Amino acid sequence: MSGLTAVAEARARVLTGRGPLPPRLLGLADALACVTAEPIVAKEPVPPFTNSAMDGYALRSSDTSGAPVELQVVGELMAGSSLDLTVGTGQAVRIMTGAPLPAGADAVCMVERAIGEPGGSSVTIEHVLASGENVRPAGGDVASGEVVFPAGTVLTPAGLGVLAGLGMLEVLAHPRPRVGVLSTGDELVEGSGPLEPGQIHESNRIALLSLVQQSGFVPVDLGIVGDDEQTVAAALLDGAERCDSVLTSGGVSVGDRDVVKAVLAKLAGETMQWLQIAIKPGKPFAFGEIGPRGTPLFGLPGNPVSAMVSFELFARPVLRMMAGHHQLDRPIVDAVADEALPRLSDGKLHLVRVVAGFGDDGLVHVVSSGGQESHHLHAMARANALALLPDGMGVHAGERVLAMLVDLDGIERSRSTRAVAPWDR
Ligand code: AMP
Ligand code: MG
Repeated sequence: MSGLTAVAEARARVLTGRGPLPPRLLGLADALACVTAEPIVAKEPVPPFTNSAMDGYALRSSDTSGAPVELQVVGELMAGSSLDLTVGTGQAVRIMTGAPLPAGADAVCMVERAIGEPGGSSVTIEHVLASGENVRPAGGDVASGEVVFPAGTVLTPAGLGVLAGLGMLEVLAHPRPRVGVLSTGDELVEGSGPLEPGQIHESNRIALLSLVQQSGFVPVDLGIVGDDEQTVAAALLDGAERCDSVLTSGGVSVGDRDVVKAVLAKLAGETMQWLQIAIKPGKPFAFGEIGPRGTPLFGLPGNPVSAMVSFELFARPVLRMMAGHHQLDRPIVDAVADEALPRLSDGKLHLVRVVAGFGDDGLVHVVSSGGQESHHLHAMARANALALLPDGMGVHAGERVLAMLVDLDGIERSRSTRAVAPWDR
């Protein structure tokens, strides 16, 4: 259809010239899911010293070649202990998990397999131990000098644990973008008061702020402003000042009163792009840079589902790029449509709200979550994926369709046929 911008072109326009925010030292407690900005090199080995993997007896494995054998217990080592003990021939040291392996010893017999009184002066070992058995060598997890994570690594809970295990308190990573969310429209009100004729309860802000938060960015509520040039301009400049990016919703479609458009045209000048994108929902979209720092601004459509879909396709990838991610999109999988998803040819990509779950065949299956108009937010609330229907007549039941998984937690809650967990059998 003429005049419409293809999704790929619109994405190229918003992504071009963007890059990760300058890295900062982040406390480990603030760094979950953040992206490292330099290779992390281990300054020490982990474990830092050779230690016992079991509660038991540290001994010389060669002493057990003629097991059973009785050994003399010459001391005790706890985790955290720094006693300088040596195990000689025919000797053993009572040892706890994590305690340093004493000199002379090369294996540990677990306490369950040793016969001896706690605190006793001797112990009987009934089986042959191999050298290194139940011993955790220094550097066995991480060697000193090893690159544990290259630059660009997404920090997971275990990854943060590895950094803490290396004695690090902070990590050089890209900060989470702070994302301001502003709603515009004279008809919008918040809260439980009675609605005047023509008013509606405002819903985009909480939905977008929540998407921002769920995506790992910092949400900043910029409030609701009416269709008035001065207040819109003031709110936008405030957002541009305080945030790394600003999202507005409403006021960017063709028939809109010119308020938001006029303000953006002034604030963003020639960086402002007004697009009609070849998607449904979400056709109107604006992008530009505002404020002294050239803060990227996304003008999302006002219709609630359009706003969320535009966020997914255009804003979220840019924000992820700013956060240092290389993988910019939600996972897209080849799914089975369990029912027909019909559509008419109109030159656009349709994003159909669906419920996705795993079937018995291990494949992802989808069904429509309900109404597909751009104000049908309730069907969006039931959906956990967007089926991507290219221009054409849609798909028949049983056919394949690409599905963008916009809510992985929602997959966990979904109608999936699950295999029975081994502990529930
Ligand atoms: P607009 O793009 O401003 O013309 O808005 C399109 C539609 O979305 C209208 O029905 C608006 O009332 C509605 N809308 C705009 N902003 C919001 C919002 N923040 N919350 C809920 N609905 C909105
Ligand atoms: Mg409006």
